[in-house]
Amino acid sequence: MAEQESQLDENFPLFSRKPKPSPLVTATTTTVADNTTTDHLQFVKHTSSNTDNTRLTFADLGLSDWALQTCKELGMKKPTPVQQHCIPRILAGEDVLGLAQTGSGKTAAFALPVLHRLAEGPYGVFCLVVTPTRELAYQLAEQFKALGSCLNLRCAVIVGGMDMISQAKMLMQRPHVVIATPGRIKVLIDQNPDIPAVFSNTKFLVLDEADRVLDVGFEDELRVVFNCLPKNRQTLLFSATMTDNLQSLLEVSANKAYFYEAYEGFQTVDTLKQQYVFIPKSVKDVYLLHILSRMEDMGIRSAIIFVSKCRTCHLLGLLMEELDHDVAELHSHKSQAFRLSALHKFKSGKVSVLLATDVASRGLDIPTVDLVINYDIPRYPRDYVHRVGRTARAGRGGLAISLITQNEVELIHDIEKEIGKKMELFECKENEVLENITQVFNARRVAKMKFSDGGFDEIEKTRKAQKMKSLAEKGLLNKKNRKRKRKTIVNKVED
Ligand code: AMP
Repeated sequence: MAEQESQLDENFPLFSRKPKPSPLVTATTTTVADNTTTDHLQFVKHTSSNTDNTRLTFADLGLSDWALQTCKELGMKKPTPVQQHCIPRILAGEDVLGLAQTGSGKTAAFALPVLHRLAEGPYGVFCLVVTPTRELAYQLAEQFKALGSCLNLRCAVIVGGMDMISQAKMLMQRPHVVIATPGRIKVLIDQNPDIPAVFSNTKFLVLDEADRVLDVGFEDELRVVFNCLPKNRQTLLFSATMTDNLQSLLEVSANKAYFYEAYEGFQTVDTLKQQYVFIPKSVKDVYLLHILSRMEDMGIRSAIIFVSKCRTCHLLGLLMEELDHDVAELHSHKSQAFRLSALHKFKSGKVSVLLATDVASRGLDIPTVDLVINYDIPRYPRDYVHRVGRTARAGRGGLAISLITQNEVELIHDIEKEIGKKMELFECKENEVLENITQVFNARRVAKMKFSDGGFDEIEKTRKAQKMKSLAEKGLLNKKNRKRKRKTIVNKVED
């Protein structure tokens, strides 16, 4: 055990090497370390306001010609601020933590330099990306493939809900890039003694949505992953929101890592219009249907409706079906094949409305999404920021409408306080909204019956039992333990 722990300590630090200064970036940075010596120059904090350089091109960042050509073909004319700052640092061999708003180009900020290095010497699994949700893993794979289209890139997606034997086989073929969710990669490493060796030469570990990956619950998974990776790898963390864990990590990693911040708390982009309707709970569905009926008039191509629970998602799905609305449903009580097909239908424009739980709130990048509806108000402002970040991406406009009932007023105040913005009223005429009330109520009655007959409660019971078992195994069942675990993970990172 002691031996195991000392091994862990050697592998666990996220930030392991002393960074080399890059002339390009040093010229535009501000150093916040008090006792700045040449050796301790590198805890460099950026804010986008004082360091954006709109004249910088991808070529200035030091990327290869093939990468420049690919960016051009993908319509990426100039690097976004997070790319301007992080790409040269990553190319210089540094560990990087990039904090920037949703939709600001974080994926290319790490994928481009990783691919640049990979093209110089491709062997073994060159990069492991860990991301919190399955859908994000597939999206990241698509982005890696697009950015590395001229490299014959071999990319493997390792996520729960898919066949483990074929995933193990895929890993044994040593793809260049592995994109995984924490739970499934842990199980594969644990169960197959040949798999750890696959990562023995890995050069990059990326934690995408790092705040979530470092959050409570993934400690065991991360420990197993870190144990397989060489100590001299580069570690890249990217996130759109800050958490205590990330903050602690920053505090302990001062002088060791580059830290880019285009983040001033829970910010939403200025191109996002944020509105609300205050309504009685009993007519929530009626209002929702009214808003959807106005999508075309408002010039909205597609919309995501966020709900807090899987059962609400499914019930709304049945309601929509009853009202002849073709929608896609995405939540964790569906099989992975169903989830992928739902997302595909939505992305390809076959359906214009996606009903989803927070499983879809992070990272998903679907340019046609012009509207996000919060059918339920999220309990934490951080989740609100991620949800509404599915629209108004990459400088485009977008609209978020929150359906607020009496019990949710406090939550909205908390959100407004955190984002530093007041939501505006979404204008609608009550008589027009209530025109279809009988039709919606009737459809809801049928939907409820179908819901009861469909065996959803049993699925939910089984899932709950599985979840409780897994939490109990991790010792995360009571609050006290959760707090202790949270501290542990940060302490381990400190090691
Ligand atoms: P991300 O924040 O990585 O999810 O990226 C958000 C969107 O911005 C994606 O659709 C990217 O393809 C796009 N994007 C990323 N970098 C650039 C760039 N330099 N110029 C234009 N679009 C970009």
